[in-house]
Amino acid sequence: MRRKLVAGNWKMHGLRAQLGEVEAIAAAAAANRQVDVALCVPFTLIAAAVAVAGDMPIGAQDVHEADQGAHTGNISAAMLREAGATLTIVGHSERRADQHETSHDAWAKAAAAHRRGLRVILCCGETEAEHNAGRAERIVQSQIEKSLPDGASPDWLTLAYEPRWAIGTGRTPSLDQIEAIHAIARAKLRMMVGDAADGIRILYGGSVTAANAEAILAVDNVDGALVGGASLTADKFVPIVEAAA
Ligand code: PEP
Repeated sequence: MRRKLVAGNWKMHGLRAQLGEVEAIAAAAAANRQVDVALCVPFTLIAAAVAVAGDMPIGAQDVHEADQGAHTGNISAAMLREAGATLTIVGHSERRADQHETSHDAWAKAAAAHRRGLRVILCCGETEAEHNAGRAERIVQSQIEKSLPDGASPDWLTLAYEPRWAIGTGRTPSLDQIEAIHAIARAKLRMMVGDAADGIRILYGGSVTAANAEAILAVDNVDGALVGGASLTADKFVPIVEAAA
């Protein structure tokens, strides 16, 4: 039985003025112990968020693949740990689009995060053109094949299926489409890591809101949600946590 995980991705939002939202979300997490809740905030907010989050995990949204070195502007897994992060997102589609990151980059970042004891939310998902061309399943399989780090296991690795065209658009795939892709992702994980695949959580992400969360979270092989816009305030995020509980 996989526990549901609802993770927020604050993207490039969040100043100290928003720490009250972190506190309120942490209080809701404490009141809904049947579900795991985490928030991935900007690097600059990690330490301050950890200070008010109680035992709710605080994560990053990216990590560099090297442990240290001449990589101006980047952040290593050890730095994230020192700031108090316990997890990180890798391979988010906005980084694939804006920073031209590849599945191989995501693989290297996930491995680096794991080496330093961070849990990982590894993202995959097709573009709108790929979706329209009927290639979503093949794209997701190929991304998992290229980005899943060695030794992936449920205690540190979570997969997130996030169709790029659904992120921040208010559009979502049908429940049948979500079910089909999650089944394919599960089968791919099983081919790669055997029985461990049964414990690896697969989140859905892309325009999850209080209005659609319950239905999406009830789909087979949907083990939680990765939530962007609706995670920024407790009033929008907490109902999603409650829908998962
Ligand atoms: C995301 O950023 O991972 C995401 C799913 O965003 P949104 O919920 O805003 O679509």
